[in-house]
Amino acid sequence: MEIIHVAAECYPVAKAGGLGDVVGALPKYQSELGHIAKVVMPMYRTKFLYENDWELVHEGSQNMGQHFFRYSVIKEKTNKLGFDLYLVDVNGLLDREKIYGYDDDIDRFLAFQIAVCDWLNKWQHKPDVIHCHDHHTGLIPFMVKHCFEFRDKLSDIPTVFTVHNAQYQGWIGWDKSFMLPAFDSWKWGMLDWETTINPLASAVKCAWKVTTVSNSYLDELKQNANGLQNLFQYEQGKSLGILNGIDTQVWDPVTDSMIAKNYDKELVDKGKKKNKKELTGQFGLDPDKPLISFIGRLVGEKAADLLPEAISQSIYQHHGNANFLVLGSGEPELEDRLDQMKHQFNGYYNSFIGYSESLSHLIYAGSDFLLMPSRVEPCGLNQMYALRYGTVPMVRNIGGLRDTVSDMGDWQGFGIRFDQASVWDITYSVGRAIDLYTNKPDLYSWMRGHMMTIDHSWDSSAQQYIDIYKSLK
Ligand code: ADP
Repeated sequence: MEIIHVAAECYPVAKAGGLGDVVGALPKYQSELGHIAKVVMPMYRTKFLYENDWELVHEGSQNMGQHFFRYSVIKEKTNKLGFDLYLVDVNGLLDREKIYGYDDDIDRFLAFQIAVCDWLNKWQHKPDVIHCHDHHTGLIPFMVKHCFEFRDKLSDIPTVFTVHNAQYQGWIGWDKSFMLPAFDSWKWGMLDWETTINPLASAVKCAWKVTTVSNSYLDELKQNANGLQNLFQYEQGKSLGILNGIDTQVWDPVTDSMIAKNYDKELVDKGKKKNKKELTGQFGLDPDKPLISFIGRLVGEKAADLLPEAISQSIYQHHGNANFLVLGSGEPELEDRLDQMKHQFNGYYNSFIGYSESLSHLIYAGSDFLLMPSRVEPCGLNQMYALRYGTVPMVRNIGGLRDTVSDMGDWQGFGIRFDQASVWDITYSVGRAIDLYTNKPDLYSWMRGHMMTIDHSWDSSAQQYIDIYKSLK
């Protein structure tokens, strides 16, 4: 089959979170299964663009309201990522260093989607499926179905939409509707949710199939989806959850070049010790105490606002018997607080405020526990990386965390789970972690070995997506 993935992120070209990891891996595994998987994304000005060779494959022009714009599509020449990678450039809109965070993000992603539809419309043949990811590409299922210019050629191509995060919906005021390519006005309801153009809602309505990145997340969306819960209930017949996999070629403690010492299941104790020594050395922490780390966006969704209080309470209540390390960026106030705390808890806590792919690898390898108190977690990749690196996940019982981590109190359990995103639950779990580390070496060692053998690779999930595409033909 020929699949075209449309997304705002794709690792290693541009990544802000899990979406990038998934779009960088899923097409690779689909190609390995014998399919033609392609990715098209905006041409941001990231390092990857300048370090690789490209060929021009298409130039075109389109209108966005009264604005005429030209776009070009380039293709990476060497199949470096294991699939065909296409970048769309719209000068003045997509030629930026960052992925998101600009005042004109609405215009940027709208222009991107229009350009993608126009380009697909010019293909000699048709792909078997258009697979869109998150709200930045959420208007494409509508455009190919209801925009006059595209529907003749594209409306019979199946569209699949994957919800990686339903908190962000890409809302566009109706006053901007003139920017969309002319569409059948009888179909305005397919764009609308509560008097706003809602790209995420539109995709859920218009796509032939909707997937979420875990089963539990799909169930939760029917109760709480930032206003779209009724829609997810209504569309449940065409929706299903498919758990993300992890790219085991990138995330492998045996070959990872970003960590201090490679190790496998047999050498996990020694290997992790070396990585921990490197990490605690860098951050002035104690290598003999359990090291509990957090990696992620510093936002309410990840319950990162609880970290300052939970970490200080844990240090006091557990008499400094654990060390803490935070890697993250996000809300500026929280960044400041987590940065300031370093001085107060010198030797017990440290942080790196910013984004560092290589440090994240060292933290997965060198930490004993990885804390994820998330309020919302559609799938979560961090806990799967932690498992693969022999780091015990301490997670809230929600979304993909619920589907991938069991509690050590249960039969063959290998993690620490708690119910509430609260300081109390985190502090209590820290106590359990310290107890496991200090008093239960046999259980701890068994857990490490066991979790490193759990298979969260993409192989089965990539096939599940293929099965869905086939069901639509
Ligand atoms: P989300 O997409 O909601 O942010 P996921 O768990 O799906 O969460 O994916 C997070 C990904 O981003 C992981 O690969 C994690 O290691 C990475 N990550 C998050 N914050 C940082 C950071 N500050 N530095 C390096 N990697 C980060």
